[in-house]
Amino acid sequence: MNQEVLIENVAVKLLKLASTKLPQDVKEAIEKAYHKERNQIGKAQLKAILENIRMAEKADTPICQDTGLISFYLKAGSRFPSLEKVEETLVRAVRRATAEVPLRPNTLNPFAQENTGDNTGRHVPHFHWGIIKGDFLEITAFPKGGGSENSCALSMMRPTDGVKGLKKFVVETVVKAGGMPCPPTIIGIGIGGGADIALELAKMSLLRPIDEPNPNHNVAQLEKELCEAVNRTGIGPMGLGGDSTALAVKIEYAHRHPASYPIAVAFQCWAARRATARIHSNGDVEYLTHKV
Ligand code: SF4
Repeated sequence: MNQEVLIENVAVKLLKLASTKLPQDVKEAIEKAYHKERNQIGKAQLKAILENIRMAEKADTPICQDTGLISFYLKAGSRFPSLEKVEETLVRAVRRATAEVPLRPNTLNPFAQENTGDNTGRHVPHFHWGIIKGDFLEITAFPKGGGSENSCALSMMRPTDGVKGLKKFVVETVVKAGGMPCPPTIIGIGIGGGADIALELAKMSLLRPIDEPNPNHNVAQLEKELCEAVNRTGIGPMGLGGDSTALAVKIEYAHRHPASYPIAVAFQCWAARRATARIHSNGDVEYLTHKV
């Protein structure tokens, strides 16, 4: 098969998988939260969420009416051929997936308010590229809902605020967000770099499987402490009260300027959609997040 056609077909499949089936780690985390939840209203919400996930899987329909704004995270092997054609191919895949899945058309011109009708537009889908060694292309489709996106926050803190200031900012941001990001959420935190780097890292941390802590022991401990602190707020599933406000907290960090201490918080709703596949230059395809 022609390589462009293969990439387009795989990307359409990833967009369908992401929209209709949550990765196993997310489903397991929601099930675990359901069994642990002590608040009866919170438990009922988690039961409804699990039923929603089951029905969407069975009917092959999107998990949520908001099928998100689409980004792709790409790891490109330096020996993978024709990389210059990948972006245009993925734009075609988004148009096809919008019609075939179908996905809700979600891209508006911010001035004219016109909807392009096919989930594409200026800088959308958005591409995050990494060049690595090898002869494969790894594609992660990452559709992100508006409710969780609207709760994201950035604080250019003072370096003297330290970890104590970071914890306060994260918990205050979660309390301010309340039910808006459709909890239980996954909370991505980006620390350091500049404002743009912190936000990029916060989003990237949402790609890490829920059951995979940061490899740095101290950072993993901070993720655990923050998750416990967030779950003590009592916001609970869908903001209606309970123990399960966050399924996990994920941290990525960069070195910072001596004068700067940016902290970014990115929310992912319970509909934590992501789907990844690796396309080898010989045409073999591996799906990494879903059984197909
Ligand atoms: S935040 Fe997530 S679960 Fe809530 S409406 Fe948006 S996409 Fe759906």
